[in-house]
Amino acid sequence: MTSRDAVPDLAALRPRLPSPLCASADGRLARHGVRLLLKRDDLIHPELIGNKWRKLAPNLTAAAGRTVATFGGAYSNHLRATAAAGRLLGLPTVGVVRGQELAGRPLNPSLARCVADGMRLHFVDRSTYRRKSEPSTLAAVLRAAGAQDAYVVPEGGSNALAVQGCRALGEELRGRADVIAVACGTGGTLAGLAAGLGAGARALGVPVLKGGFLGAEVRALQTAAFGGPRGDWSLDERFHFGGYARTTPALESFAADFEDRHGLPVERLYVAKMLYAVVALAEEGAFARGTTVAAVVTGAPLPGIS
Ligand SMILES: *Cc1c(COP(=O)(O)O)cnc(C)c1O
Repeated sequence: MTSRDAVPDLAALRPRLPSPLCASADGRLARHGVRLLLKRDDLIHPELIGNKWRKLAPNLTAAAGRTVATFGGAYSNHLRATAAAGRLLGLPTVGVVRGQELAGRPLNPSLARCVADGMRLHFVDRSTYRRKSEPSTLAAVLRAAGAQDAYVVPEGGSNALAVQGCRALGEELRGRADVIAVACGTGGTLAGLAAGLGAGARALGVPVLKGGFLGAEVRALQTAAFGGPRGDWSLDERFHFGGYARTTPALESFAADFEDRHGLPVERLYVAKMLYAVVALAEEGAFARGTTVAAVVTGAPLPGIS
């Protein structure tokens, strides 16, 4: 195989790009003169869902057929998307999973899906996992995983290429909305989205992790991807519901009700919290009358995984 043949053919997977932008009548916003649009990134590809497509696509091209190694927790959407990409494109994948104690147990449905897609899992203890961006630790982990020559994608998939890939999301929304709301894990999607928006529009990030560290991360990602800060963006840190993968009865009933109202399957780790924030902000009067808010549906619930 020549190196040219090794570049994976992403176009053959026929992503639905630009993703659909749909008007969505919601009385809770309409009452405040606010229009709601849903940016359906969940429809880009049935397995490489949402922002995971936008972030992985440039990295898969750069990997040029090498093994792709990446990192995540036991329920990581990013690990699953990477595993699916590996199967679809014929690339070997290695997933380094946080939690040595998981090694001897039956796999949860998310990790089982990764393995079914051909991903080789390598479990590491939490303290090693925390130090994985130190070069010597990274090298040792990759060696132990048999992936020393792999193309490495960081945890959550956010590197400069990923952030550049998400700029297209902002470009697709130019002139279509005043405020664009997006759920944030690493902040890579927000960093790229904000850079792609035209003048007059602003991006609103809703972190699903607790901690207040994300603003600095987004600035660092924009500097890595574009050489400096880009676009008008802000964070509202009030809607993490206790942290990653945490939920409350109020959030659960909000998400179930949103599904009923809009016929949209609501992914619970990220999308539910962002939609809750949009409705709460509208009810607080945070959006001026006449504002159009686009909510980015960055993912979908995976069938068989709640
Ligand atoms: C991964 C993920 C995010 C977070 O994206 P970041 O770029 O890490 O901020 C948001 N929504 C969904 C559904 C995801 O799977």
